[in-house]
Amino acid sequence: MATALADSERAVLDPVPKGLLIGGKWREASGSRTLAVEDPATGEALCAVADATVEDGLAALDAAASAQAAWATHPPRERGEILRRAFEAVTAQANDLALLMTLEMGKPLAESRAEVAYGADFLRWFSEEAVRIRGDYSVAPSGKGRLLTMRQPVGPCILITPWNFPLAMAARKIAPAIAAGCTMVLKPAAQTPLCSLALARILEAAGLPEGVLNVVTTSTSGKVMEPLIRDPRARKLSFTGSTEVGRKLIEQSAAQVLRVSMELGGNAPFLVFDDADLDAAVEGAMLAKMRNMGEACTSANRFHVAASVAGDFTERLAARMAGLKVGRGTKSDSQVGPLIDGAGRAKVEELVADAAASGAKVVVGGKAMPGGGYFYEPTVLGDVPAGARVLREEIFGPVAPVSEFSTEDEAIAAANQTEYGLAAYVFTKDLGRAFRVIERLETGMVGLNQGIVSNAAAPFGGVKQSGFGREGGAEGIKEYLEIKYVALNV
Ligand code: NAP
Repeated sequence: MATALADSERAVLDPVPKGLLIGGKWREASGSRTLAVEDPATGEALCAVADATVEDGLAALDAAASAQAAWATHPPRERGEILRRAFEAVTAQANDLALLMTLEMGKPLAESRAEVAYGADFLRWFSEEAVRIRGDYSVAPSGKGRLLTMRQPVGPCILITPWNFPLAMAARKIAPAIAAGCTMVLKPAAQTPLCSLALARILEAAGLPEGVLNVVTTSTSGKVMEPLIRDPRARKLSFTGSTEVGRKLIEQSAAQVLRVSMELGGNAPFLVFDDADLDAAVEGAMLAKMRNMGEACTSANRFHVAASVAGDFTERLAARMAGLKVGRGTKSDSQVGPLIDGAGRAKVEELVADAAASGAKVVVGGKAMPGGGYFYEPTVLGDVPAGARVLREEIFGPVAPVSEFSTEDEAIAAANQTEYGLAAYVFTKDLGRAFRVIERLETGMVGLNQGIVSNAAAPFGGVKQSGFGREGGAEGIKEYLEIKYVALNV
């Protein structure tokens, strides 16, 4: 059944292209196959987009491969200016894009606006980086000969993005690829293809030549993408998604020894020491936990709190969580939207049930909400025992499990007790302790006395099974560049 949409919602949905973008042409999938995009606030269909086949996927790679040589020599300034124009267009259309995002993904409008700004920032950042691709020149240590290095585009890239940040994850890959002079095939998640399609249209209007960006949407991602990953014309895979799928794609990438960047799952610890500013810690906890309804790879997955302040922290956090307004993200007073689908919500229910059965106290929330859509109550769990699954697995929902520690060593050991290593949060007023702890944390990113780490100007990425490679910052463009060294006989 299709959702009854308001005129304003129809007005942002209708203009979005629903086809595949291949070689500069928007077209249907072979056999006119389509896939439905659902509103997670109602569980009902919003619209349908093209459902690519294996042949369509390969046609997209053909287009990227054909466009590569010309694009690699396109003047860097012009590559940057295309991105700059796209940044300005995204910024000008921020409200419409935010509504589109809320419709397909569920997050409240204020959060969608924040993601649009975050995504736009990657376009701006890499518009500036396009003209700063540098090599190196030095005298050989022997004094005879000179050493020259140059950086060149990797070549056609395969970009695969998740549903949780439908615009920013696409922009974070497309922008550096464009800046570096790479062509690409983007495959957004089937659940949230609309923001990527809208962004592709914006980049087209900003002057991106045909074939540089190709977009395929499909309900059979494994089947459609594997032949591309195994195709010798592809030179790079950049994937953001779960560790489970990432592992599979690393294996597939081995066939062609493809260059790979992996932005995978997380299990971020949030450490509150006894000297922390508790108001700031609760504020940071709300951001780190509730941004995106907890459906973020950087989401605080577990709260380790010094025993002397754990009761106070839990009480204050529970009061804030209980006060949140849950509802369809399009409503102006909604602060928490639905989860992405029934399976996501069922996993949250399972983790909470497991924690409760193993002795945790449900301080607030703890239940799925009745009615349509995939809403779940903002939840705080106290006294969560070390063995509970909720501490080990990615929750991807609005659930904050709190457990206590006694010493700094114990806190660090608990924080590192996971195969993941994406983000961590540390709250303390003692600078010496802050650095002691930060240096021992096994994560790619740390928020010190703040609950958010994302910034287009910083290198985003993880260690351990959270992946490898960095997006954003000065490092981001390097993922799309090869180094060529030239030995000069001079
Ligand atoms: P997912 O199931 O791994 O899917 C991610 C993307 O991969 C989607 O586009 C998906 O397409 C596609 N995909 C799935 N199976 C595939 C296969 N066999 N071959 C090729 N593509 C395949 O993850 P998700 O549920 O969308 O996203 C949530 C996960 O992403 C969480 O684990 C989260 O931590 C992680 N994440 C990490 C970062 C980071 O920067 N580290 C950022 C955001 C999210 P379909 O869904 O259409 O099948």
